[in-house]
Amino acid sequence: MIFKKEKLRRTVTITKDVRDGILTYCKIHHPYEGILILRGKSKKGNVTIDGLIIPPFSHGGPTFAGFPHSFLPFDPSYVGTVHSHPSGTAQPSVTDLHNFFGFVSLIVQSPYEDDDIFAYDRDGNLLEITISQDKL
Ligand SMILES: [Zn+2]
Repeated sequence: MIFKKEKLRRTVTITKDVRDGILTYCKIHHPYEGILILRGKSKKGNVTIDGLIIPPFSHGGPTFAGFPHSFLPFDPSYVGTVHSHPSGTAQPSVTDLHNFFGFVSLIVQSPYEDDDIFAYDRDGNLLEITISQDKL
């Protein structure tokens, strides 16, 4: 028996409303980091995001925005987090990968325009984002 070690590449789909909500939230928090919980579904490696939740506990600072995962209520509709990088590069930091939560991590780089959102998996691989005009 041959085990194929094929990695499932996740695709990420977000609604236009959610995208706009994320960008606005990041702009409001600038120059500090903003962080939100992503709500949606994960099915066969495809993550769809149709909602945003402001974390119950969060602290923003110039270098790190995060929250202890123990503060997060368990909810199967929480598929990941999004946070901003006010410094202007969307590269995930070591801290980001350590604090990975869920299936996908979105990072938004300054100046938070439509093309400034990037999606990463747990290993820090860049994933493709599709923007859906419709409700998911
Ligand atoms: Zn970060």
